[in-house]
Amino acid sequence: MADRDGFIWYDGKLVPWRDATTHVLTHSLHYGLSVFEGVRAYKTDEGTAIFRLKEHTRRLFNSAHIYQIPMPYDQATIEAAQCEVVRANNLESCYLRPLVFFGAEKLGISPKGAKVHVAIAAWPWGAYLGEEALAQGIRVKVSSFARQHVNVTMPRAKVATTYANSIIANAEALQDGYDEALLLDTEGFVAEGAGENVFIVRDGVLCEPEIASALTGITRSTIHALAADLGIPVRTSRLTRDDIYIADEAFFTGTAAEVTPIREVDNRKIGNGRRGPITERLQKAFFDVVQGRDPKHKDWLTKI
Ligand code: PMP
Repeated sequence: MADRDGFIWYDGKLVPWRDATTHVLTHSLHYGLSVFEGVRAYKTDEGTAIFRLKEHTRRLFNSAHIYQIPMPYDQATIEAAQCEVVRANNLESCYLRPLVFFGAEKLGISPKGAKVHVAIAAWPWGAYLGEEALAQGIRVKVSSFARQHVNVTMPRAKVATTYANSIIANAEALQDGYDEALLLDTEGFVAEGAGENVFIVRDGVLCEPEIASALTGITRSTIHALAADLGIPVRTSRLTRDDIYIADEAFFTGTAAEVTPIREVDNRKIGNGRRGPITERLQKAFFDVVQGRDPKHKDWLTKI
């Protein structure tokens, strides 16, 4: 990733991609405290547009607030910077990664005295779990690792340290021949995927787990709005792993994963083992919105 052309916004200015480096004694590299976002921009008929830029930027600032990281810029500056990065790299559709981290001025647990840095990169990134996954669905393993308790890493923050848990769960799933991991919380109820929220469909109702030990996904909230548009009822409750096994349909949502059907969990077929009809309607509605074909939700698109 480091050796390519282009520009990264780094502490207030665009720098050549290869020069956006940091020292090995960077505090966040040692103790894992950095907060970040994953954002996508899509090509629309009216040009490239960033999807739900305000909501992602707000979540970045909330993550910093939760972890008491003083943000050196305001939200408007970080929103404008994301648009600038897409333009500077001539990207039609891309993934954006804003990152806030502590620098190399000091080590030791307390970051006090370390400078807060902000970097924003953007690059083309296709379907996270593969194009085929969007149509055919993926195979998921319930992880032997639990999602952190709500008082461990604080799930409203998109904080790097949570992803050690995601990485180990995802690695276990891949090593066992699955495509992605589904994590349960410390009480054994469904939390979320390694990098996605989860939904199931049962008897025509869209069900999701209570968002306790899970990130409050922006794609998830998009799905809520689209389900309302389509007249699909949504229910939020505690879900067990076997609620997923007996679902008619299941899918993951996330900025990277978009709307990815789940065709199998722990070697149990979900529904008929293919993308279900409600999943397909929501997936289509999602792509209509992000690609600017749905006039009702144009306010979610920021033209760059
Ligand atoms: N949960 C986790 C752990 C994630 O990493 C993500 C991706 N950011 C999500 C859920 C989905 O969030 P969003 O739809 O805002 O991308």
